[in-house]
Amino acid sequence: MTTFRPSAHATVDFPLYDDEVAGEMVNAEPAPGRCYACGAVKSYEAFARDASKPSGRKSVCRECDSRRALAYYHSKKAAA
Ligand SMILES: [Zn+2]
Repeated sequence: MTTFRPSAHATVDFPLYDDEVAGEMVNAEPAPGRCYACGAVKSYEAFARDASKPSGRKSVCRECDSRRALAYYHSKKAAA
């Protein structure tokens, strides 16, 4: 009888993960980590994409970004 042995070290190639590691090593651009608005240090994913920024990410986290948008919406609504 043959025993099926699942490989413990299945190598899965993730291009995205590789790119992230490479970007961290090169460190050409200051990676977004600290939110400009609240000052909290967050993961890269906590920042929305912004193609107009050299870093490709907004300098404020998603939380602050939505809070700003909401405040703007309410101020506009109140003025109208
Ligand atoms: Zn923030």
